[in-house]
Amino acid sequence: QKYVYDFAEGNKDLKDLLGGKGANLAEMTNLGLPVPPGFTITTEACKAYLTTGREPDGLAAQIEAHLESLEREMGRRLGDPDDPLLVSVRSGAKFSMPGMMETVLNVGLNDRSVVGLSNQAGGNDRFAWDSYRRLIQMFGKTVCEVPGEEFEHALDEIKRAKGTHNDLDLDADDLRGLVDAYKQIFAKHTGREFPQEPREQLDLAIRAVFDSWNAERAILYRRQERIPADLGTAVNVVTMVFGNLGPDSGTGVAFTRDPGSGAQGIYGDYLANAQGEDVVAGIRNTVPLQELEQLDKTSYDQLLGIMARLEEHYKDLCDIEFTIERGKLWMLQTRVGKRTAAAAFVIAGQLVDEGLIDLDEALHRVNGAQLAQLMFPRFQLDHEFEPVAKGIGASPGAASGKVVFTSARAVELAAEGESVILVRRETNPDDLNGMIAAKGILTSRGGKTSHAAVVARGMGKTCVSGADELEVNVPAKKFTVGDHVVNEGDVVSIDGTTGKVYLGEVPVMPSEVVQYFEGELDPENTDDALVRSVHRIMTHADAARRLRVRTNADTGADAARARRFGAEGIGLCRTEHMFLGDRRELVERLILASGEQEREDALAALLPLQRADFIEIFREMDGLPVTVRLIDPPLHEFLPPLEQLAVNVAVAQERGEDVAKEEALLAAVRRMHEENPMLGLRGVRLGLVIPGLFAMQVRAIAEAAVAVVRDGGKACPEIMVPLVGAVQELETVRAEAERIIAEVVGDSGVEVLIGTMIEVPRAALTAGQIAEAAEFFSFGTNDLTQMGWGFSRDDVEGAFFWRYLELGIFGISPFESIDTDGVGRLVRIAAEEGRAARPGLKLGVCGEHGGDPDSVHFFHEVGLDYVSCSPFRVPVARLEAGRASI
Ligand code: PEP
Ligand code: MG
Repeated sequence: QKYVYDFAEGNKDLKDLLGGKGANLAEMTNLGLPVPPGFTITTEACKAYLTTGREPDGLAAQIEAHLESLEREMGRRLGDPDDPLLVSVRSGAKFSMPGMMETVLNVGLNDRSVVGLSNQAGGNDRFAWDSYRRLIQMFGKTVCEVPGEEFEHALDEIKRAKGTHNDLDLDADDLRGLVDAYKQIFAKHTGREFPQEPREQLDLAIRAVFDSWNAERAILYRRQERIPADLGTAVNVVTMVFGNLGPDSGTGVAFTRDPGSGAQGIYGDYLANAQGEDVVAGIRNTVPLQELEQLDKTSYDQLLGIMARLEEHYKDLCDIEFTIERGKLWMLQTRVGKRTAAAAFVIAGQLVDEGLIDLDEALHRVNGAQLAQLMFPRFQLDHEFEPVAKGIGASPGAASGKVVFTSARAVELAAEGESVILVRRETNPDDLNGMIAAKGILTSRGGKTSHAAVVARGMGKTCVSGADELEVNVPAKKFTVGDHVVNEGDVVSIDGTTGKVYLGEVPVMPSEVVQYFEGELDPENTDDALVRSVHRIMTHADAARRLRVRTNADTGADAARARRFGAEGIGLCRTEHMFLGDRRELVERLILASGEQEREDALAALLPLQRADFIEIFREMDGLPVTVRLIDPPLHEFLPPLEQLAVNVAVAQERGEDVAKEEALLAAVRRMHEENPMLGLRGVRLGLVIPGLFAMQVRAIAEAAVAVVRDGGKACPEIMVPLVGAVQELETVRAEAERIIAEVVGDSGVEVLIGTMIEVPRAALTAGQIAEAAEFFSFGTNDLTQMGWGFSRDDVEGAFFWRYLELGIFGISPFESIDTDGVGRLVRIAAEEGRAARPGLKLGVCGEHGGDPDSVHFFHEVGLDYVSCSPFRVPVARLEAGRASI
């Protein structure tokens, strides 16, 4: 098996095998760019090492062969005393894991080759000894686990003796002394001398990079970023080039466009007379890349040429690391660069204009999560506001409010109408009420899958987690960050997208992308590059997509907004939402009705109200399909809570008051009480038990449609029966509904479809039978997930999902993104068997998953006709449906 590839043997598409860095170094090499020669040891070798605990057979010999050929090419031998070849050993996994894994520089230096290096550098002893001490330090720390502080301590010691704070004041003798001190530290901790044999240094460094794949921080990072644990890392062995050889040397990073805004231009930083690690360590201040033009025009021009070349080749924004060694430019790394959501859209649009990509490709370059991010209001940040801390952007949005430290205080202040930010080290299920009451949540511990993060995302609430600069002191009701002390009641602002935390109230500005969707910004006539690009890409997505996008809406206002956002119908109108507020009393009358007459009176009172609701919605949708779902939740939700009522009645009885009415109510509440209401009397079961209830709703829908049509409008109602598990349930409801519809619509021309939700697993498994009685299916993936997994949708997120996510039992809540293997399989079966029984059966989804990017791709693939989601997610679903189609 081939475990080692020369740079010239690879290319950018071999990231699985060569890692991101190795694949791109190979690509640049083959483009003829100045890459220091070297080779890559594959991820396969790493995986073999990690499973067996030793290097695979043949690896050592292959390294030897590639090293020899490298030595021939460079005309130097690794660690040669007179004229040494030095190499760096760099990790490079398929996905970038910044700072997570190891790198060792200057491999090949020893007591003898340090002299050779000095000669190569024109007698620069200082440089040579500095390079040597860096090798011992890095090698000791990363390969042999010598505590890094010991080296830093020895360095500080020498500087103190010399009376300086600056490394650059140390001369060759100081550094030679430092090398001796470092060697002693090395020997003390490892029980052996620092290895002088260059090949041994190389082998140990390679092994250390392999091992670093399983370093604790790397494991945590992968979990956080959902990077699979079994990919392994490649190892790049690269000829050393030096940016610290004098003022005509240096190192820098560059972006081919602004990764923040997407604006065209040259972005980057440069540091003269330095190595890459100095830039990261912030030892000296970098200068803007443009200043390189003054320092070294030849290299600058060459760099600009290479950047243009890379953009043209990768057809995307690239980021670059480079080094200049005595006036000679070297490319150390490139990759397609990370960018903000706004930059992603802007750049995709620019690349189309520049003819580098087409609109299909532009659509691939952005995603629904980015679009969703752009739809949140943002902080309006000018220079007055500097973040005091940065945590993890755990749940997007921008929130300001008074700091509170307990759930109880959050509830109290919120009840007084205050905006509050709940600050905790970590949250736990006891904090739930406070989290609900707060505008935002800020924690000093925990990552993207912590309790706070998971629950906040579920609630759509802004959350910054793991802001570890915060010292949170709950008993003292304060936190400190840097020099600031923040007490309960002080105002802070948190940005759940960037993870930044600000003191005081930062003003919030609306999203220009929402303004565009609302029709308040003309995309043809704005100088906002983001809006222009979003418009263009959305238009293309709409043209490309096969899936239709509807919305879940229960009011005319929601329906109207969703239409502005591009909804092509209503996929779910939850009629129970129309029974709240003033109408609750009417529902109570219905439930408590003691005889047929009372019940009919109650229904008769509800009928005109329902009819008016539907008329409003049909008008708003103007002939687009409207799926109205018959009432679903358990009826006791419309009654007062049992315990409270029992107490009230007892107290009133005690006082000798007349409680006949309350007693009747209490008896009814007792009668209707269910231990497990989600699995109880709801949906179609309710319709079968309470005579006249569904009939009233069907009549209201049909009458509303007829009224709109007689008025010259259009109406396209679809009646949907919830919670069906057996075809017989649906047939019973259907027979009655058809009778009423026939009676009401007469010759008005109104057509009413009757269909069902598929949200009980049994319905999915008997979809072939159910399709005989249904003109359409709409998958209720909320309940299908609840009943498929047996997870109570109202309880689990706060109770234990955070732990499941932490353990990696699933990567994302199955209520957020469809579980394709399990619940998704039920959808697939029902779709196939339903369509087999009734060709042309209309299929949609109306659970929360209808607006989730990954789920939309799944529903596209399963062949549904539409997804339906909340109005705000309609644009996200349109975009993802487009992306799924190309
Ligand atoms: C569902 O179960 O997915 C659904 C849309 O219905 P509800 O959320 O109202 O139960
Ligand atoms: Mg449901």
